[in-house]
Amino acid sequence: MATDPVIEIRELHKAYGQLEVLKGVSINAHKGDVVSLIGSSGSGKSTILRCLNLLEDSQSGEILFDGEPIAWKGEGHNRRPADGKQVLRVRTNLSMVFQQFNLWAHLTVLENVMEAPVTVLRQDKAEVEARARGLLDKVGIGDKCDVYPAQMSGGQQQRAAIARALCMEPQALLFDEPTSALDPELEQEVIKVIKDLAAEGRTMLIVTHDMRMARDISSHVVFLHQGLIEEQGPPETLFDAPRSDRLRQFLSHSQ
Ligand code: ADP
Ligand code: MG
Repeated sequence: MATDPVIEIRELHKAYGQLEVLKGVSINAHKGDVVSLIGSSGSGKSTILRCLNLLEDSQSGEILFDGEPIAWKGEGHNRRPADGKQVLRVRTNLSMVFQQFNLWAHLTVLENVMEAPVTVLRQDKAEVEARARGLLDKVGIGDKCDVYPAQMSGGQQQRAAIARALCMEPQALLFDEPTSALDPELEQEVIKVIKDLAAEGRTMLIVTHDMRMARDISSHVVFLHQGLIEEQGPPETLFDAPRSDRLRQFLSHSQ
């Protein structure tokens, strides 16, 4: 029997006031899927991740996490998640990695990675520390445990942010342009970590401008245009045989 997707978004609509940003977007990610979201700036990619993580309200459509629909109260612009526990479950199971790393400047790298499992999940400190050190090793900065973010390169900071996301032991990772704040040579070290995670079978939703990475690691690619999915499919089809003029035009500008 087919299992439920880990992430399912059905016909999601989102507006900021009068501005309709998502006009009915549906996306599925099953366990082990790597779904890349591509599209021009302003097409609604970040908004999808923020709605999915319940950082942002949406007006209609459904979001299911692990087969369980988010419960809403209110309608339209008043719609909110109804169940705080469910919100916490979704947020802790969908760890987000941001373009600007968003590490705590006043905490060491190790403290950054340990923070949420200890304070939010109330896990045992010694266990979290062992896991955090292991993850920092895994992303190649095991020697940076005791330094502060400002003392590291952007690529190292982003790898710390990935270790921090992994330390929550989430069911899926959400990346919002994880390499676009980095110089090209630093980009590669972060891409390598993301590739390793893909090879491990992690479920990931990745907003990216990096078409080469999207082609290499995605099981599915979604091209968004002005709040609607214009085209989607396996990377070979999307990149090598795009059907829509808009996607062809987008790709010609971004490769
Ligand atoms: P992308 O990530 O694809 O570049 P976004 O999801 O960030 O696009 O934004 C989609 C649209 O929503 C853009 O027109 C943007 O200006 C608008 N937008 C994003 N966040 C807000 C906000 N907090 N308030 C009002 N408009 C917003
Ligand atoms: Mg964005």
